[in-house]
Amino acid sequence: MNDRAWVTISNAEGLAWEDNAARGRMAETVWPVVVVGAGAAGLVAAIFAAEGGRPVLLLERTDRPGQKILIAGGGRCNVLPAQAHSGVFETDSPREALEAALAAWPLDQQTRFFEHTLGVRLKREDFPTVFTPPYPGVVMTSRFGGPGKLFPVSDQARQVRDALLDEARRRGVTLWTNASVEKIERLKTNDWRLKIEDWKLKPSHHPSSHLQSSNPQSSVFSHRLIIATGGLSVPTTGSDGTGLRLVEALGHAVTAPYPALTPLLGGGPAHHALAGVSLPVRLTTEGGLSRQAEGSFLFTHRGYSGPAVLDMSHAVTRPQPAPRPTLRVQWGEQSAEEWTAALVQARGGVLQVLRERLPERLARHLVAEAGLVETQRAAELRRADRQRLLDRLTRYPLPISGDEGYRKAEVTGGGVRLDQVHPATLESRVCPNLFLCGEILDVFGPIGGYNFLWAWASGYVAGRGASASDK
Ligand SMILES: Cc1cc2nc3c(=O)[nH]c(=O)nc-3n(C[C@H](O)[C@H](O)[C@H](O)COP(=O)(O)OP(=O)(O)OC[C@H]3O[C@@H](n4cnc5c(N)ncnc54)[C@H](O)[C@@H]3O)c2cc1C
Repeated sequence: MNDRAWVTISNAEGLAWEDNAARGRMAETVWPVVVVGAGAAGLVAAIFAAEGGRPVLLLERTDRPGQKILIAGGGRCNVLPAQAHSGVFETDSPREALEAALAAWPLDQQTRFFEHTLGVRLKREDFPTVFTPPYPGVVMTSRFGGPGKLFPVSDQARQVRDALLDEARRRGVTLWTNASVEKIERLKTNDWRLKIEDWKLKPSHHPSSHLQSSNPQSSVFSHRLIIATGGLSVPTTGSDGTGLRLVEALGHAVTAPYPALTPLLGGGPAHHALAGVSLPVRLTTEGGLSRQAEGSFLFTHRGYSGPAVLDMSHAVTRPQPAPRPTLRVQWGEQSAEEWTAALVQARGGVLQVLRERLPERLARHLVAEAGLVETQRAAELRRADRQRLLDRLTRYPLPISGDEGYRKAEVTGGGVRLDQVHPATLESRVCPNLFLCGEILDVFGPIGGYNFLWAWASGYVAGRGASASDK
């Protein structure tokens, strides 16, 4: 077990084995802790499971650990929110384990971990999107004060990913890449056997690898197992739902997954012609889940995006009885009363009033949809005409035909129900010695660093839980 293998970062992304023979030998060992999935949650889980020098094996199916960290925040990685409210997290499960994990590693301690332990200095940026907490919860603060998003000062997501890898390495974690766990079996000894496939070792790195040439399938044994395989969103990063299938096969109850924080489709040619128009809005659901978000809205060539739309998308995409809820839009920041006052007191035409407060292309579209003439004097509108225009300005029903799905979803809704795990450790109630963390669990949050907040917190709890139960 002293024979630790690690990967070295040999170029921009290429990861090469230092000691591939060690990998063959160590496959026969029973590891105290194995973590499956080297994403955000799995990296933190491995770091904390390895505390005190405990040997930990981290298995990653791709050759790029932490790919979602690398693409997060447009390559800048929105590491955390500057201030958070636990009531904004969505789950269809009882919320006890969610609140317990967030309380176990609060926001302020997480920011200190990144800044002091990992050496990733953080900065706060304003974020004008407000997602109204639909659930009671607690406010979590950090040294960065009020609301906003935290990014690395370097603006480099790579710095965050590499710092986590370095810390795992410093604590002696062994990382195997190209190791896809395809089957999990519980042995009579209560240990776990993992079937690993598709090692995809590059011949250039390992010309004589027996694993590659004659043993593409292999087994790994462990006492404790942490599953951190993520959900189904952006499958090209490695998370395609295999982990969910594996834990479901072990008897865990799973809330049916669905894409969340994903752009919506719809609107037809008239709306698609507005592609590129962006403005602040207030979005409210009508029917189904009661949700409200204020923030930026973007017309796309296929429908609608922007933080406000992404935050509300799950209200539409989640499996639910028909009809789907309607999303109503208040364009811009004016309420119906403010629009009424502006129209009644205006000296000019209807279009002029609207384009002083909204992007011109949208203003023209709304005036036409309301059946009005652009130059018609705003102050002289008949009451019914003004009401029709006000409805379009402040209660606009967004015509939604679908969504962009997992290809573009930033997270997956649904997952392993939270009542399947012990809140203090995230150990499974169904399979002792198995721990779950990250997006595989039935939790996600809005845009703004909330999803990493959950991944880091749950990784910390599962990592410590697995290492504590090993003592
Ligand atoms: C484009 C994009 C931008 C985002 N930006 C942000 C942001 O700025 N801030 C924020 O808070 N959140 C952001 N998110 C969300 C955030 O990335 C996720 O919530 C977070 O990565 C989930 O962490 P995880 O470890 O649970 O899963 P993942 O990060 O998906 O990691 C799962 C890992 O498990 C591996 N794996 C899966 N199956 C197996 C298997 N069978 N065997 C071995 N390995 C396996 C995968 O290859 C992957 O490496 C973004 C997401 C996307 C898609």
